[in-house]
Amino acid sequence: MTRTFAPVAVRAVPRDVRARDDGRRPTASPTNVVLIGPPGAGKGTQATRLARWLSVPTISTGDMLRRAVRSGSAIGLAVKTVVERGELIDDAMMTGIVATRLAESDTHTGFVLDGFPRTVEQAVALDGLLEQRGDLIVVELAVPEGAIIRRLGQRRVCERCGRNADPLSGTPPKDCPCGGAFHQRPDDAETVIRERLRTYERATRPILDFYRQRRALRAIDGTQAPDLVTAQISQVIDAVFDHAAS
Ligand code: AMP
Repeated sequence: MTRTFAPVAVRAVPRDVRARDDGRRPTASPTNVVLIGPPGAGKGTQATRLARWLSVPTISTGDMLRRAVRSGSAIGLAVKTVVERGELIDDAMMTGIVATRLAESDTHTGFVLDGFPRTVEQAVALDGLLEQRGDLIVVELAVPEGAIIRRLGQRRVCERCGRNADPLSGTPPKDCPCGGAFHQRPDDAETVIRERLRTYERATRPILDFYRQRRALRAIDGTQAPDLVTAQISQVIDAVFDHAAS
């Protein structure tokens, strides 16, 4: 199957990445990618693009929890209030959810994780889940607080399917192609965003040191145009495999 990576409206993207239309060459080991960054750093957008390029699944814990809340399942009922307050679900429950997903066979050639790990305890648990399953490539999307608050204040998502309204389309459309209505996520309200950013600094930022110490971390400027961010992450991934092959 042909893997395509064809970002639109690319500016200042290295030619070999922009022109790539043959997919990344197959690698012997799985491509396990983790995206880390504050809420609104663009992890979801980048995870979707990278997963398509790499032909691996995206595992977005925020999406999984929101789907559970929408469906009214037992997990959804248990997490609803915590998610809407912008607080973290406890490590044991999150690790259980991710362990179940990683046990599915489509993840064995790799995955792009968005939203997990979010604490050092979760990072340690992830190591345990991935024993014998190849290394992690951890990418930090760095975006300053002011830009996050602006971005999330403008974000609108479909209340039915969770799709983001295109932020570049000027006035966001009221309705999603699936027929649901676009609305502001309860946890994107400004007071909740500030709580989520505090949580990121306190609980999640220490993970960066955890991965930095073992040289698994690469930082990318997440304020750049999304296509440029995608191109830079794909270069990071290629460089890791080129290095491993040399
Ligand atoms: P996100 O869409 O990744 O910003 O996640 C939305 C919300 O889901 C977060 O604010 C948390 O309440 C919850 N959540 C998602 N992933 C995790 C995780 N790994 N650990 C704890 N809570 C999480």
